[in-house]
Amino acid sequence: MKNIILTGDRPSGKLHIGHYVGSLKRRVELQNSGKFDEIYVMVADAQALTDNFDNPEKVRANITEVALDYLACGIDPKKSTIFVQSHVEQLTELTFYYMNLVTLSRLERNPTVKTELKQKNFETSIPMGFLTYPVSQTADITAFKATTVPVGEDQLPMLEQAREIVRSFNGLYGETLVEPKAVLPENKSCLRLPGTDGMAKMSKSLGNCIYLSDSADEIKRKVMGMYTDPNHIKVTDPGNTSNNPTFIYLDAFSTDEHFKTYLPEYANLDELKAHYERGGLGDMKVKKLLNAVMQETLEPIRLRREELAKDLDAVWDMLYQGSEKARAVAAQTLSEVKKAMRIDYFADRK
Ligand code: ATP
Ligand code: MG
Repeated sequence: MKNIILTGDRPSGKLHIGHYVGSLKRRVELQNSGKFDEIYVMVADAQALTDNFDNPEKVRANITEVALDYLACGIDPKKSTIFVQSHVEQLTELTFYYMNLVTLSRLERNPTVKTELKQKNFETSIPMGFLTYPVSQTADITAFKATTVPVGEDQLPMLEQAREIVRSFNGLYGETLVEPKAVLPENKSCLRLPGTDGMAKMSKSLGNCIYLSDSADEIKRKVMGMYTDPNHIKVTDPGNTSNNPTFIYLDAFSTDEHFKTYLPEYANLDELKAHYERGGLGDMKVKKLLNAVMQETLEPIRLRREELAKDLDAVWDMLYQGSEKARAVAAQTLSEVKKAMRIDYFADRK
């Protein structure tokens, strides 16, 4: 069996450092590992429309933003097929058949969807498109026969849903679809990077993000304004590092090298954490280090992005080529699905 990756992001905004550590960095490593036969990276515009249907212009504008973020981080269109979801209409048809294999109560139990419904105040009038997006995600994954889906932790319920649909489909109609597995970041702090406001998840829709495209000044302003431990009032107070986003970001991004360069009085993050927990270490010093680390990490990405943004036509061309290729692969899977379901009535009349 081939090793195939499918992953993607919603063009509901530019990508942020949560995406970077939660999934993008991993994708680039997997892409360059040479262990995968095919890699598909999807700009999930149809999914973004499920909660932005009143603002398609926003989704449109963010398609190239997300594509620029991909290219700037090292996703290489020669090795990975980058495509736009809505151009591959076979995905919608697959979704329609998969909907029969899921119950309403199963969809309502999805913990990620539940949290998002609350955040979006959809509780009393839930758009069907939004509630069923995990089914459309199953279509995205299975259309490419993906074996591996590198994602952040919030996507685990989607992968579980996908596996259930695959098992149900294969049980009813015969072995056709491939069961995917999620690949999570190894570093625990990267599973669900919190927002700069201390909220549980950095999220485009919550406005608590440091974007990959932020200027040096914006990064500094956001880092300096970050939520820390609210009980660490005086420098001498003992502080908490585990629910403190400044330390979680340092966990996700800093290396011993960074300490050598920017804060040589500490050998590593463990020493810095111990000092903060003991008391006697001010938030400003931690934030200054974090700012230096973030600047060093994001500068090369931002510069590449600025270069690429000069030719948006080339970006649209790349997306078109990728989308055409993805469409051919999805069409093949759709025909296998219809054959398995015995609804390929006109197959021999073509
Ligand atoms: P939205 O608020 O519109 O849902 P988002 O910020 O959640 O946007 P998505 O496009 O839904 O971003 O997620 C794309 C991928 O990035 C998924 O694999 C998701 O798990 C991962 N991801 C998103 N936010 C984080 C985060 N804060 N930490 C780690 N991974 C994340
Ligand atoms: Mg999301």
